[in-house]
Amino acid sequence: MSQKKIIIAGAGLGGLATALRLASKGFDVTILEKHHQAGGRLNMLEKDGFKFDLGPTFFSMSYEFDELVQSCGIDYPFEFIELEPLFTVNIDGIDQTFTIYKDLDKLSAQFELFEPDFKAKMEAHLLKTESLYNDTVNRIVHRNFNSLPDYLLQITKVPLKHTPLLFKTMWKELCDSFESKEARMVFSLVGFFLGATPFDTPAVFSLLNYVEMKHDGYHNVKGGMYKIVESLEKILKEKGVKFHYNTEITGAVYENSTLKSITDSSGKHWDADIFVINADAASFRGQILKRPKYSESKLNKKKWTMAPLTIYLGIKGKLDNLQHHNYFLGNNFDEYAKGVFKNRVSFQKPYYYVNVPSKNNPEYAPEGHESLFILCPSPDLRFKPDWNDREEIAQNIIEDLSRRSGYNLNEMIVSKTILSPEHWESMFNLYKGSGLGLAHDMNQIGWFRPSNKDEELKNLYYVGASTIPGTGLPMTVISSKLTTTRVLEDLNQKH
Ligand SMILES: Cc1cc2nc3c(=O)[nH]c(=O)nc-3n(C[C@H](O)[C@H](O)[C@H](O)COP(=O)(O)OP(=O)(O)OC[C@H]3O[C@@H](n4cnc5c(N)ncnc54)[C@H](O)[C@@H]3O)c2cc1C
Repeated sequence: MSQKKIIIAGAGLGGLATALRLASKGFDVTILEKHHQAGGRLNMLEKDGFKFDLGPTFFSMSYEFDELVQSCGIDYPFEFIELEPLFTVNIDGIDQTFTIYKDLDKLSAQFELFEPDFKAKMEAHLLKTESLYNDTVNRIVHRNFNSLPDYLLQITKVPLKHTPLLFKTMWKELCDSFESKEARMVFSLVGFFLGATPFDTPAVFSLLNYVEMKHDGYHNVKGGMYKIVESLEKILKEKGVKFHYNTEITGAVYENSTLKSITDSSGKHWDADIFVINADAASFRGQILKRPKYSESKLNKKKWTMAPLTIYLGIKGKLDNLQHHNYFLGNNFDEYAKGVFKNRVSFQKPYYYVNVPSKNNPEYAPEGHESLFILCPSPDLRFKPDWNDREEIAQNIIEDLSRRSGYNLNEMIVSKTILSPEHWESMFNLYKGSGLGLAHDMNQIGWFRPSNKDEELKNLYYVGASTIPGTGLPMTVISSKLTTTRVLEDLNQKH
């Protein structure tokens, strides 16, 4: 058993999963977390007798959690609920609400009036994206890259038939697959799951259509998403991992190429043999380590994902007209999607996502009530620094949702919390409130994403959304595997 001491800064899913992998190998692990409880963005809000998932409400690629559990030799700590239907989409001005099923026949029936030969077109789209997934998942997604040539070599191993996808956007790919704007809009929503729009998401990410519609689907957790965090924290404590909350890292002490300690805001030094940073891998390098490559002006010029405006409502009464996951889109998709993150469209008629977690988890709301979560993807603080209008925007959304769902929500609300990007920035140190970290442009993925191994300090590593492979819960779990592999390789051990 190794007695090396490891400090992980951040108790987000990336920090917790890395701690689990390393503690399972016998390392002495300590976690330092800025917030008052674990989870990072995967957090829980409890208020007025209601519970809400603070950020993530579902995930795909559940097999990445299987891999984590199996490789650490633990019993499955939480129970999945697979969702079917996956979600609904309501487009303003169109009478039909689209219910999105994994079942292809049921799905095809939804598009009967809109897209001729939908089933054949969807099958072709899924076949193409399945092949892309199979050809890239091990070569690109599940790999550490040691150099640019190493990365390029892996890319050259991807069959040439996928090359056109490198040069187009997700929207263009969907335009090639479907004729109706309805099908294009609905299946482009995966772009928003990456925190971007289909107009600026590379077509290679269309593989998410295959992952979500066919390969794995969507999952929720019995008892709520925060069960993931609670159960991991419990196992980690049983393994001897130490947690320190309300501890924000603000400095670092290093000698030559070795990080000696990290310093918290009270001035306390925390020393260790190895350090893993779960704070944002780009802004930590800039703001704490003062690296010129990540200076404020360079961070500012990077592409960041959407910032969240989130609304948590306790509702008196039941909301039978809503599913667990629902999207409400307007009728100006191109104009809205192209302008929203740059603050170029009006928030009079925002697009938003609605989640009713009490549908699957009755303990989220008192008897006869529902807990309701609304996420409106918004510009980050670079483009919209002033959120004094958050109440007004939230009210617009609540009124729009009332009109479209058939409930007078204003009369049903018994609890209300609104978080805008500056709250998200200050809660978890998210750069300018960007909800999902660095965006996934071709020049910000793979070798071009901030590495999980520090460029200068040989005992410093990173894990989470802004390092490889990317954002979202399953990617964060993969990130913990890649980071752990790096640490163990450097110590000449096998993962
Ligand atoms: C509103 C919203 C909805 C989302 N919905 C989904 C979804 O439905 N499905 C999905 O798969 N993904 C979703 N995501 C994305 C998902 O939440 C993230 O990709 C994932 O949780 C990132 O985990 P992480 O460990 O990288 O980072 P984080 O969760 O941000 O964890 C990093 C931790 O480090 C701490 N920290 C930061 N700086 C310091 C410091 N200096 N010192 C000490 N601690 C520090 C933070 O407080 C935080 O706890 C959503 C994100 C948001 C914002």
